[in-house]
Amino acid sequence: MTEAKKARKARRITILGSTGSIGVNTLDLLEFAARRGEAEFQIEALTAHRNVALLAQQAKKFRPRFVAIGDEALRDDLDAALAGTGIETGAGPSALEDAAARDADWVMAAIVGAAGLHPTLRAAKRGASIALANKECLVCAGDVLTAAIAEAGGELLPVDSEHNAIFQVFDFERPERVSRLILTASGGPFREWTRSQMAAATPAQAVAHPNWSMGAKISVDSATLMNKGLELIEAAHIFPISHEQIEIVVHPQSVIHSMVEYVDGSVLAQLGTPDMRTPIATTLAWPDRTPSPSARLDFAKIARLTFEAPDPVRFPALRLARESVAQGGVFPAMLNAANEVAVAAFLAGNLKFLDIAGVTEQVLEQAGRRNGPARLSTLDEAVAADQEGRRLAALAVAARAAA
Ligand code: NDP
Repeated sequence: MTEAKKARKARRITILGSTGSIGVNTLDLLEFAARRGEAEFQIEALTAHRNVALLAQQAKKFRPRFVAIGDEALRDDLDAALAGTGIETGAGPSALEDAAARDADWVMAAIVGAAGLHPTLRAAKRGASIALANKECLVCAGDVLTAAIAEAGGELLPVDSEHNAIFQVFDFERPERVSRLILTASGGPFREWTRSQMAAATPAQAVAHPNWSMGAKISVDSATLMNKGLELIEAAHIFPISHEQIEIVVHPQSVIHSMVEYVDGSVLAQLGTPDMRTPIATTLAWPDRTPSPSARLDFAKIARLTFEAPDPVRFPALRLARESVAQGGVFPAMLNAANEVAVAAFLAGNLKFLDIAGVTEQVLEQAGRRNGPARLSTLDEAVAADQEGRRLAALAVAARAAA
């Protein structure tokens, strides 16, 4: 590698949510790139919510300048774990924002849920390159976030494998030549289950994804197919295309990560093994490429790629997401908030699997009776919709538990 190329890749990096599945994969990839001399980087900041032990371990290894724990009560534990290292620490939600505000030029947004909204927005407003895994913040406040990125002259690099795939083959110069986006879905662990089997599904069964190893929340979203619904809304924010031109097809092998159809009928796809280090590598080096340790596709071994339509009866989450994005305004934020509350209740053993979509639908019906802005253009509006969605969902969960 030439010195010029190396210098161009020297980066200051912050990882919001470094202890999660995406965060760990990002650090793994950075270590791989550094070992091969492919990239030079300084970690500016790392954040976690409660996992002090892993955060401290990562900090000792990667030597960030600043480390933040979201749970204020764990401040002393973090300080004790990093005593004598000289690494600056912070605790509480404001410390997550402080981490995002620091001068990193590439920020991995990998906090799970709407909790990532404020820190991600903070990094966006500085004009950083945002590698966005945290789809919920785009669903909850997509217009606010994309406007902040554009205004500050930054860029949004999608990490979600489907959007990363589309990003690689989408003709941004001539978007009117694109006729359709086709998001692929693995179908999740319950693809072949009956509705009555799904009614009795346990958290352990729901998080056992057939192809991908991910955090608990997104794994449950994959089992309900809400993940694909959130991705549909996410895609409508990232790409200059109407939500009506986005289709979803179940592709159980998870080899084709998504496709773009052009007006002449040509379909361009991106393929790869189900390893998040590939899309993370794309965002790290974009528009260049950097090697990744992910396994390569063995087409002869795969032999067959299959496709099927998603079942709207067993997976109502897709319809809810479509209705929300069509209605706009507060609906996507409330959909996301209700789903987050319902998934957390399911994982805690307080809600049945099929009631995740049930609670979400109930919240959206209640939202439909209220008036709200047709488009959320401020952070306050998005946060208010998120909080109202959470409040209504908590009531709906409690009512079902009491029934
Ligand atoms: P994980 O649950 O594995 O990790 C989440 C990270 O966010 C952890 O660092 C966690 O800290 C932190 N966190 C959790 N709650 C809060 C909070 N309230 N405030 C601040 N930080 C918090 O999730 P994933 O890595 O699987 O997913 C992260 C995001 O990426 C999600 O939005 C997901 O949808 C998206 N994504 C994930 C993919 C994957 O393969 N995993 C693929 C595509 C998208 P702690 O460890 O201390 O709890």
